[in-house]
Amino acid sequence: MTEAKPRRRRAPNFELIGGNVCLDFINTLDDRPSAQPKELLTNYYELARFGEDTGILTPEQFDFFYERVHLESDEAEESIRRARKLREALYAIFSAVMNKQTAPQLAMDRLNANLQDAALHSRLVQRNGGLEWRFDDLTSSFNAMLWPIARAAADLLASPELALVRACSSPTCQWFFLDTSKNHHRRWCSMKQCGNRAKVRRFYARQKTAG
Ligand SMILES: [Zn+2]
Repeated sequence: MTEAKPRRRRAPNFELIGGNVCLDFINTLDDRPSAQPKELLTNYYELARFGEDTGILTPEQFDFFYERVHLESDEAEESIRRARKLREALYAIFSAVMNKQTAPQLAMDRLNANLQDAALHSRLVQRNGGLEWRFDDLTSSFNAMLWPIARAAADLLASPELALVRACSSPTCQWFFLDTSKNHHRRWCSMKQCGNRAKVRRFYARQKTAG
């Protein structure tokens, strides 16, 4: 029997082009290369929206947090701070790997702390004739949403797919993504966004030199 997919109630809020939830998570600080990066995880509500958009949370679990976030605002505040710290640790680690450098120890420690938390709340279960990791109820704490993100990051960092992690070639963007294209020559987060902008720039540059 296949499980019914939860019905989506809200239009997606986040552009998920990363190909892996941990890379989409890193991209929630937008315009990183600029002097004023744009924080997309402005509060716990946005983090829960990210959870719903990526499928970490079901719409019902999102609703649960939506109700609770006002009642336990201190705990939610603490969690959003922790989420941003994990995100910046992941950014530092993936950036270092891409530049063939050693990742900062503080970032590694932060990821490992989140992984240990995730490990405490996960177990192997049998399903459809195989085995899979299953997390405890993701509504059991405000931090629970970070368990699957930390786990996804660790899985990617320890896999051969790590070599396929790229940053968008646009100097103003640099969003991370997993290049699963056939020849592994993908340069842009999305052709629609950055790829086309670069094409337009080249077009005007050519016109200028021609004129
Ligand atoms: Zn881009």
